[in-house]
Amino acid sequence: MIRKTRLFTPGPTPLLPAAQFAMAAADIHHRTAEFRALFTRVLSQLKDFVGTKNDVLVLSSSGTGAMEAAVSNLTSPGDRVLVLTAGKFGERWSGITKAFGCEVDVVSAPYGSTFTLEAVKAGLKLETRAVFVQATESSTGVRHDIEGIAKLLKSEHSEALLIVDAITGLGTTPLDMDGWGVDVFIGGSQKAVMIPPGLSYLAVSQRAWDRMEATYNPRYYFDLRKERKNAAKGESAYTPSVALIAALGAALDYIAGQAEGDLVEGRKKLVDNAETCAAMTRAAATALGLKLFAPVGFEAAAATAIVPPTGVDSGIIVKGLRSKFAAIVTDGQGEMKGSLFRIAHIGFFDYMDTIAIIGALEQVAIAANLPLPNLAFGTGLIAAQKVYAERNK
Ligand SMILES: *Cc1c(COP(=O)(O)O)cnc(C)c1O
Repeated sequence: MIRKTRLFTPGPTPLLPAAQFAMAAADIHHRTAEFRALFTRVLSQLKDFVGTKNDVLVLSSSGTGAMEAAVSNLTSPGDRVLVLTAGKFGERWSGITKAFGCEVDVVSAPYGSTFTLEAVKAGLKLETRAVFVQATESSTGVRHDIEGIAKLLKSEHSEALLIVDAITGLGTTPLDMDGWGVDVFIGGSQKAVMIPPGLSYLAVSQRAWDRMEATYNPRYYFDLRKERKNAAKGESAYTPSVALIAALGAALDYIAGQAEGDLVEGRKKLVDNAETCAAMTRAAATALGLKLFAPVGFEAAAATAIVPPTGVDSGIIVKGLRSKFAAIVTDGQGEMKGSLFRIAHIGFFDYMDTIAIIGALEQVAIAANLPLPNLAFGTGLIAAQKVYAERNK
């Protein structure tokens, strides 16, 4: 049969056709009224997409650029910070904060789990200036309890800013920046907003702006105060990725269009969509006898990490899906390579995509004769169908 390439990866994610057309048509200079109108509209839409009244800034970089900007703008050398990590992206926070001279305390949990609030509390010190964490750890498919961490910081009367990499959390997970009192949420373009890599965005609280008055780590290109000043005029400090900003506008229009033009409701639908795709996938994997990597109750709707049967390398499944069906799923990252594979549900995935990847997984598992007692055509699909029907009564 012919093969259609489909991404099931936790970034980049499948592209929205309307956004691709908007990119191709974006022949706009960035110091014109036309661009200022576009950028102002996109910045305002992003507030609804994040779900905040705080300022949202857009940077021309991948998500890690915004992570670095959060560290360079909000810390000074020698600041004590707390990094909460249970995966590859959590480790990135350690790397960046160390690079900027912070004194880094780390609370870690094994890959495939999350830290308890007691452990976070024990790691928090009186002098902790900032806490860094992921909303969803894309390398393990685990959701961290951001609401619980935010509440803990409040009840401890901590001065620490809560800085959250929500790069795969936004658009897949219910997040309430203002209600919980999160200081920074970071997003990336190649995730739930269905456009190519190259833009990052950050929502920044008043507390964080106040902190920036006194911090003095070096920064130049990623100077958030400079960006904020320019954003107020509908511009960015340097040449922005105009085409991606046009694409982002089209994607946010599409998301709003899922709920009669209401972007807040559209974002909730997008989250619900990811949750349904994830629940279908989890049910299918479990019915087939496969184990999930994330603990019950902490599964990220961003991506489902599935553990192959003992003695089987996950690469067999990853390669089988790719060669037979051109379905791109990801293996484990780093030390996790070979021990899990990840199917993403971020952004432009729907029922059809989910049913297709489960059907393809059954084909690959049966062809590879995986040692699973319940392995038969349809076992995973039936479980997924029931989940869909139950959630859409
Ligand atoms: C994709 C991703 C990032 C950003 O990676 P970039 O390659 O810099 O875009 C950061 N954190 C998480 C949790 C991610 O999934």
